[in-house]
Amino acid sequence: MLAPDDPVTAIAGIGPAKAKALGLLSIVTVRELIEHYPRRYADLGAISSLEDAPVGDQVTLIGTITSWDQRRAQAKGRRRLDIATATVRDRDGSYFTATFFNQSWRENQLPIGTFASFSGKLKRFRGDLQVTMPEVTVLDGEADPDQHRRLTPIYPATSALPSFRLAQWIEAALDELPPMPDYLPVSLRDEHDLVDLDFAFQQIHRPDDHDSAEAARRRLKFDELFTLQVGLQWRRVRLEAEVAGKDNGPVEGRFAARFLEHLPFDPTGAQHRAFDRIAADLKRDRPMHRLLQGDVGSGKTLVAVWTMLCAVDSGRQAALMAPTEVLAEQHLRTLTDLLAPLGVNVLDGLRIEALTSSTPTAERRRILGELLSGDVDLIVGTHALLEEGVRFADLGVVVIDEQHRFGVGQRVRLRQKGEETGGGPDVLVMTATPIPRSLALTLYGDLDVTVLDELPPGRKPIVTQLITPKQSGRRERLYEFVREQAEQGLQTYVVCPLVEGSEAIEATSAAETHRRLADEVWPDLEVGLVHGRMRSDDKEAVMSAFRRGEIHVLVATTVIEVGVDVPAASVMIIEDAERFGISQLHQLRGRVGRGADKSYCVLFAGWNSPLTDEAARRLESVMATTDGFELAEVDLEIRGEGQLFGERQSGLPDLKLARLTRDRKLIEQTREAAVALVEADPDLDEPTNRALRAEVVRRYRGGLEELEALATG
Ligand code: ADP
Ligand code: MG
Repeated sequence: MLAPDDPVTAIAGIGPAKAKALGLLSIVTVRELIEHYPRRYADLGAISSLEDAPVGDQVTLIGTITSWDQRRAQAKGRRRLDIATATVRDRDGSYFTATFFNQSWRENQLPIGTFASFSGKLKRFRGDLQVTMPEVTVLDGEADPDQHRRLTPIYPATSALPSFRLAQWIEAALDELPPMPDYLPVSLRDEHDLVDLDFAFQQIHRPDDHDSAEAARRRLKFDELFTLQVGLQWRRVRLEAEVAGKDNGPVEGRFAARFLEHLPFDPTGAQHRAFDRIAADLKRDRPMHRLLQGDVGSGKTLVAVWTMLCAVDSGRQAALMAPTEVLAEQHLRTLTDLLAPLGVNVLDGLRIEALTSSTPTAERRRILGELLSGDVDLIVGTHALLEEGVRFADLGVVVIDEQHRFGVGQRVRLRQKGEETGGGPDVLVMTATPIPRSLALTLYGDLDVTVLDELPPGRKPIVTQLITPKQSGRRERLYEFVREQAEQGLQTYVVCPLVEGSEAIEATSAAETHRRLADEVWPDLEVGLVHGRMRSDDKEAVMSAFRRGEIHVLVATTVIEVGVDVPAASVMIIEDAERFGISQLHQLRGRVGRGADKSYCVLFAGWNSPLTDEAARRLESVMATTDGFELAEVDLEIRGEGQLFGERQSGLPDLKLARLTRDRKLIEQTREAAVALVEADPDLDEPTNRALRAEVVRRYRGGLEELEALATG
């Protein structure tokens, strides 16, 4: 009897060579084989018979290729056209042709003797019946055509492994596997109207009709999302149950309160709502796990700083972890500036330190000592904060500036630093890049979410313009405009994709642009240059000069993408804008419009390389809106979740059928169902839930084994 974890070679007909080819599709076990789901189904029931096939209609014809003809046509003044024509004999012995333009490789792909279906528009050409550029599905030539299922599954395939071959093996596997026990509790299946698991596997691969294929797909998709959510909720509840929280609630008259009193502006409504939610979390006897989302400039930093001060007010410490050294330094400066009115590193003020991997050894030793003794109140750092030697007197609040870069495991590690002294610290995770709700619920399903959905008042909308080489005159006019802005004390960024010129890449370099702008375009203005290859103190010097207004135009690479906050900067020029992603463009644009003046973002695109359709779509959407959440949705649609998800997937199970873009409703439903289930049975130890627990652990591939041990132990 076949078992799901057997290697594919356990299936008749799969030897080492075939197994290797399957390996290229990441299929090693029988389970992985049957989880290779059809992309779609060819409806062979809808096959047209050639005899009464209506010319001009969309048809699917089936037959065997009997010959190939390759020609080259070149009409006067037209482009050359390669024409490959296959002659096909259908089941009744009549002939038709299938024609392909500029696809000479089709002859190799579909050699004489290939039995296949051809879908396309039927035409009559010089007396022959012809389908032009048909969609071709190779079928199993040995089988009687009438034996083909009406709905034939079409699998993602390779040339070595055509779809019908995969279908055969999957069919064999399904025949030999024992019926699959269903791990979903019956009540849940009823509630969500789900077919049972074994039926789902049978019907997704060999459906009776479109309806049962759809029901099967829905069930398997539900399982992917539901088990993912159960894992996240389970982990969350276990962690909460295990460690007591610390009361870091705000205290009247201390730092957090005084900080707000000293602000030169009023917090926005959204910031107030965030304070309230966070204050409630801080007071609770369970550690906070909250995600703070907000568009560029929505004022997340303020919320983070206030939260950290609450810890200090309760006699504890707070840590802020950033993904890069540049960002850590930026945070240190922001913190020092924001907290200056309260006194920083003075006798009765706050003690703030920074720790990164480039902190000199002696200083590091001193800081570690003062962290342990409790002398340091606030520490800002990078991954260096996660190292063994870093111990706290009493860590109350952890803020993690995510930028999609830390995995779940690293978040847990920093939190554990606080647990060494009893009780779990309160954790606030910030993302600078807005993420769509569906993605947040999946990637951050173990966190509560607060969104700062309101920008501070007085921000003028940013005017965004696209300039292509056809409008080259506009470049000159823009340069003139920048000078006028400079005369009013307003500043400009010019962002380039490269630091220095490159033979390999046709793109604008910052160094070259700096020379050109400083020498030829604005010899009368101060033009600065900053990029990632400069030494940090040189970088810092240029940035400070720009901040003080001593530099009018700053040529930069994407080092300025995040965090830089210069209110007098009113123009953002981006060279080779087609080379940047949506969220990058959005972040860059967010560097202007931070003051009270009208701001502009100018995208130069198509100057060094032609615009692809995808790039055009990206630029159009950036032109169309400044709403980061809307852009994040478009980004998700264009890039697909593969990339977004992959960036910080770290330890989450695969999604094979579910799509974050299309399956939003199901994501919400499965999340609710998972929350309810785990709330009712936190150990997943009810007899009706045990099979589900094992399935969740299996899908997390070891990521939840500690929980499993705890639950059963
Ligand atoms: P984010 O990190 O969300 O992009 P920041 O926290 O850097 O945004 O804030 C952007 C700018 O807005 C900063 O200059 C900050 O001082 C300012 N700011 C924050 N909150 C307010 C507010 N309520 N009113 C006016 N300005 C604010
Ligand atoms: Mg910020």
